[in-house]
Amino acid sequence: MTAAQQKIAAGVNRQRLIDTAVKLIAIPSRTGEAGPVSDCLADLLKTEGFAVERSAAGHDAAPAVVVRWSTGKPGRTLQFNGHLDTVHLPFIPPAVDGDRLTGSGSSDMKAGTAAAIEALRVLRETGAMTGGSILLTAHDLHETPWGDGSQLDRLINDGCVGDAVLIPEYLNDRLSVIGRGGMTWKAVIGRPGAPIHEVYRPNEPSVIAAGARLVQRLEAMGKEVSQRSDPMAGSESVFIGQIHSGEIFNQYPQECRIEGTRRWLPGTSRADVEQQLRALFDEVARETGTSISCQIKMMRDAFVLDQKDPLVPAFQQAFRATAGQDLRIGAKPFCDDGNSFWALRKVPAITHGPQAGGAHTLNEWVSIDDLVRVANVYALTAVAYCNPNAA
Ligand SMILES: [Zn+2]
Repeated sequence: MTAAQQKIAAGVNRQRLIDTAVKLIAIPSRTGEAGPVSDCLADLLKTEGFAVERSAAGHDAAPAVVVRWSTGKPGRTLQFNGHLDTVHLPFIPPAVDGDRLTGSGSSDMKAGTAAAIEALRVLRETGAMTGGSILLTAHDLHETPWGDGSQLDRLINDGCVGDAVLIPEYLNDRLSVIGRGGMTWKAVIGRPGAPIHEVYRPNEPSVIAAGARLVQRLEAMGKEVSQRSDPMAGSESVFIGQIHSGEIFNQYPQECRIEGTRRWLPGTSRADVEQQLRALFDEVARETGTSISCQIKMMRDAFVLDQKDPLVPAFQQAFRATAGQDLRIGAKPFCDDGNSFWALRKVPAITHGPQAGGAHTLNEWVSIDDLVRVANVYALTAVAYCNPNAA
């Protein structure tokens, strides 16, 4: 072990990390309602002597928590970014049982955020970091469909970003270097007039027949876009997840709703994707004599991490120090905030969090041993990344 590795391993305080995670989990914070937990985190960090800023970033109900800590010497800024909101499910209070910490937001992602906070404390206490600074950001509005990522987008657009970012989401079996962008779409096919018994039906188009036509066209579009494919991230896609129309067998319906997703690879423009979908809906509406209104909601844009960026060797060195080997390269299976950092500012981001499970269920859990490992990896990555001249 190097001197810095020894200092950091000795400095990570397991109980303090658990206490912080428990405190954050104990305050309910459904997406949009993360004000109280953000206030609690801000107070906690202030009490510990950190300079805490609050930035509403378009969401006054829960201003983001922002901490800048500098070694006072030149170097790069590494950002630790976590979200404090949880999905809208009944609240489960925190509990510790052996290596397991459970409760709402334990896996997604309050405990991971607590590990990042512990890394920040250890860097300040040990003096292991010899140049550069840390930017800690914690925000709301992450989880869809209740949030739209707009608070973080605003922080990024306002320049509240580091030179690189670590995000403690529950993904740690790969180092993601590519990820698809995604949007959800919903088409509502309509005809004029009221629902009516089929024997009296007017000479109007069938919304179900139009829906069938649209499904075929979307399937064809899916086949076409899947030609664009990446060996790790897979193909671009059009996915249909729901179709609904009609009430009973002999009523002529007014409306047919179809919903799904569209995913694309880096290099494809998000605006083009949206425009193609809208054009297809318009075309089918014209062909079938129906009206088609469409709602498109962005998840996140596509993601790339340049493996030559200095963040990557700094992270791998830190990971090796705790795991004995490099983390394998792979694709990001979902969209997360790392996509936003890349799409909006070309800031390199690595998603790496603790061993955890049950995200988006009532049975969230996280491994405490692995939280300690994540705190070590974050601190060690900062040591290697922030001062490029360090030994
Ligand atoms: Zn999350």
